[in-house]
Amino acid sequence: MAQALRIVVVYPDLLGTYGDRGNGIVLAGRARRRGVAAELVEATSDRALPRGDIYVLGGGEDAPQVQAAELLARDGSLAEAVAAGAVVLAVCAGYQVLGTTFPAADGAPVPGLGLLEVATAKGRRRRAVGEAAVAATIPGVGLLSGFENHAGTSVLGPGVRPLGALRHGVGNGDGTDGAWSGRVVGTYLHGPVLARNPALADTLLTWATGMESLPPLDDHREEALRAERLGAVLGRAGGRRLRRRGSGVDP
Ligand code: GLN
Repeated sequence: MAQALRIVVVYPDLLGTYGDRGNGIVLAGRARRRGVAAELVEATSDRALPRGDIYVLGGGEDAPQVQAAELLARDGSLAEAVAAGAVVLAVCAGYQVLGTTFPAADGAPVPGLGLLEVATAKGRRRRAVGEAAVAATIPGVGLLSGFENHAGTSVLGPGVRPLGALRHGVGNGDGTDGAWSGRVVGTYLHGPVLARNPALADTLLTWATGMESLPPLDDHREEALRAERLGAVLGRAGGRRLRRRGSGVDP
């Protein structure tokens, strides 16, 4: 890590439809509240992608998503940063772009960056829209709350693990959501997902800073939001039960 933790929001002009740049704001805020200097860079698509310690990619519409994939492949620096140990959180269109292939608006396959072994195609079912709950496979992360809005369904290869087992929603389309490998995490969950799930934000921060544990923060407002959102899809008792045993559940 350089002097300050650098968090790069990748192409908010193309992948900014769903407010996922909030994930960068959450990461910078949670680092600074621990006394860790953090720089938040909104990296628009009209210039070379700056180097960062953590990259966040968000959801977007089909045509800008294709453009983002082409520009990132040409730029090359995201793949280099990942090879050097950078942390990446990619949501929906961003998640699909990190995979091996995803569909353009007409369904034609477009090559992804191949940073996650995940192939996405247009799903046969209706567009998946609504709340989702996911029991994460990353240790200590627990039950994730978010909302999804996508047409694609994703098939995972042996090089990745699902981010988690779905307790509610559609996700990848096979009972799981997202994928992760090393320090690269993809998910269909908007929210922004890190605003709803501080434990995932702190996991990414520990990966990026090398700090073994981070001092606790007062998360009562975030926890109240999680309880309300999880309760809305799982019922209040189910939300409480799953929050207690959600950590490390394998799909
Ligand atoms: N265009 C992609 C899909 O519909 C991604 C949508 C999104 O980012 N929310 O699957």
